[in-house]
Amino acid sequence: MRIRALDGALQKARVGEIRLEERLAHYTYMGVGGPCRALVRPPDLASLERLIMLLGELEVAYVTIGGGTNLLVSDEGFDGVVISTDALQEWDETGPGSLRTGAGVATSRIVRWAAGRNLSGLEGLAGVPGSIGGASVMNAGGAWGDISNSLERVEVVTSPPEVHTVTVEADALNLAYRSTSLPAGSVIGRVELGFTPEKEPHAVESRTVEAMEQRLNTQPKGVRSAGSTFRNPPGDAAGRLIEACGLKGMREGAAQISEKHANFTLNMGNATATDIRTLIERVREQVKIKTGVSLELEVVTLGFGDDPVPRTVWMPPATGRRKIGRMAVQ
Ligand SMILES: Cc1cc2nc3c(=O)[nH]c(=O)nc-3n(C[C@H](O)[C@H](O)[C@H](O)COP(=O)(O)OP(=O)(O)OC[C@H]3O[C@@H](n4cnc5c(N)ncnc54)[C@H](O)[C@@H]3O)c2cc1C
Repeated sequence: MRIRALDGALQKARVGEIRLEERLAHYTYMGVGGPCRALVRPPDLASLERLIMLLGELEVAYVTIGGGTNLLVSDEGFDGVVISTDALQEWDETGPGSLRTGAGVATSRIVRWAAGRNLSGLEGLAGVPGSIGGASVMNAGGAWGDISNSLERVEVVTSPPEVHTVTVEADALNLAYRSTSLPAGSVIGRVELGFTPEKEPHAVESRTVEAMEQRLNTQPKGVRSAGSTFRNPPGDAAGRLIEACGLKGMREGAAQISEKHANFTLNMGNATATDIRTLIERVREQVKIKTGVSLELEVVTLGFGDDPVPRTVWMPPATGRRKIGRMAVQ
């Protein structure tokens, strides 16, 4: 479908702000990523539902982006529509320890809100950038706990052809280490969280500050990255293995393995997505050769030839299970 025709159809359906042929480097924390056909910012769930229905009818692939803090997009970009959740900013305090927000609300805002009210549950996310929708999909967290501690349910717009808004209880999402079983192509539009009031004054605030400080002390700051590159293998830490292999500081163009935390791959300035992806693969190979461990990616990659397409991408049925541009479908 031609870009003008796509623009016309999107305008007519009133699906929110449309930015044609937008470069995704502007939307990823890593600061890399080529263009998409259009980036759309639905302002509410009704617009999100209309958008997904329309993309299904037009047979245009789509993917969702929150804060882009866990995403590595190729230099070629994404041959489809990117749905940005950043205009979904609804905020409802539904009870003394309950909150319902739009998927685009910053996780840090919720963490601060809960700490200020001495409500426990999300201290483990202090210092984790990105949106609450993205945190729910990734089951974000760390040593201090993850979002599963507070996530009660999500409102999800299902993928074509049956596009509906449904409520999914957290139990049904099978929240596990940095993963959920959100059905492919579904978009979280709203999140409901429940917190536990603490008796001891300022207890949540102190734990939040402690978790934040621990992150600041162990993770690189003030430099572009996409969080942890690899998942921790059972019983070990990816960072420890990479460091033990002597790979801290390794470079490819302007991409570098962090000297501070070996599981962070950094964009030191003008790295391309290809530099970053190549470096990640070199690390994976070296770790395999030296330790026998096959590291799996935690960072979500989009638009790289041989990488599996993330579950959050929806593709029209006719294009399924073959290559689209530079994307291979799992
Ligand atoms: C410096 C730094 C430190 C980090 N530290 C941590 C950490 O300690 N612990 C941790 O768990 N993570 C960490 N991360 C990774 C990242 O911040 C989290 O995973 C975050 O919750 C992702 O949210 P996001 O909105 O940026 O998601 P994005 O990066 O935008 O998206 C991530 C995935 O979720 C999908 N997605 C996003 N929003 C939705 C939605 N509403 N509906 C459906 N799919 C959606 C995307 O398609 C993609 O597949 C870190 C990242 C950085 C850059």
